[in-house]
Amino acid sequence: MVHIPMVKPIIGDEEKSAIIEVMNSGMIAQGKKTEELEEKFAKLCGTKYAVAVNSGTSALHTAVHSAGIRPGDEVITTPFTFVATANSILMAGAVPVFADIDEETFNISPEEVKKKITKKTRAIMPVDLYGHPYDYRAVREISEKYNLRIIEDAAQAVNAELNGKKAGALGDIGTFSFYATKNIMCGEGGMLVTDNEKFAEESRIFRNHGQTGKYQYGELGFNYRIMDLQAAILLEQLKRVDWITERRMENAKLLTKGLDGVKGIYTPVIRNSAKHVFHQYTVKVDGFRLSRDELMAHLKNKGIDCTVYYPEPLFAYSHLKRYKNGNFPVAEKVCTQVLSLPVHPSLKREDL
Ligand SMILES: *Cc1c(COP(=O)(O)O)cnc(C)c1O
Repeated sequence: MVHIPMVKPIIGDEEKSAIIEVMNSGMIAQGKKTEELEEKFAKLCGTKYAVAVNSGTSALHTAVHSAGIRPGDEVITTPFTFVATANSILMAGAVPVFADIDEETFNISPEEVKKKITKKTRAIMPVDLYGHPYDYRAVREISEKYNLRIIEDAAQAVNAELNGKKAGALGDIGTFSFYATKNIMCGEGGMLVTDNEKFAEESRIFRNHGQTGKYQYGELGFNYRIMDLQAAILLEQLKRVDWITERRMENAKLLTKGLDGVKGIYTPVIRNSAKHVFHQYTVKVDGFRLSRDELMAHLKNKGIDCTVYYPEPLFAYSHLKRYKNGNFPVAEKVCTQVLSLPVHPSLKREDL
């Protein structure tokens, strides 16, 4: 029977030799490979600085801290995302304030953000969900008016663009994840990018125990360092990033062509001048002859993996319940409609 998986990381001979090279050097922790990776990643994003860390979650936590968010500050974010987005705000002792999303792109709605601003708001944390950049122009207008920071969770959007600007560079700080299922990966890893020298400097200190000089500690920090072993894998993945992106975009195009006109299946929307990198290819099932869950069971029976990202808005989870502040008709509705289908670069035409 056919089996079509949701993900298949690309691990070639290049990644394997890169690891052996680092092993043979005897220096496997954070060092030269990490520096080289940061340089190349900043170039990819068109930012001045990049700081590598050991996960996407630590990148977010580091970004929140470096942007000056402190206990009690409010950060406006989306409830329709992976839990780490909101958790990073809690890690800094700050308060996540949810704003509802846009029904077509699934990204935070600028109109809803406006409604959630208070005297305590310090930042907005949009997510480039599924690989589609958020509407940075509208969010930027709000942040300028209220003097807020923008921390962009670009974990799913490496190489995505809006108006020719790269995801991650669409706010004050952007973060990425290199978890095994992400578009480029090293098992576990993360990165933050910024044009702000102070934020970059703060981030380097924060990832290394708050150390400002040899055994000098200015503040609480963490051990969020990445290893050169991981950086070496990522340097090889970076060489593949355009190929991976193009495959995903082509696969998405083919899926949309095939599904076009099927009653009750709504294919992904791509905004004008956006480059959607399809970390997930997510359709909405609404008025189809099977329910979303029946369709999912049917596909799985046929050996076709598919997943619901995400089954609940974040405020449905016990540690985030107390942050539910109002109604979220769109987030609550799309949780019952979305279904993500395989779109990864190793799919064959007949799979698609
Ligand atoms: C993957 C992901 C993260 C967390 O990254 P980890 O590397 O797993 O810590 C954060 N936000 C979003 C939107 C993600 O998809």
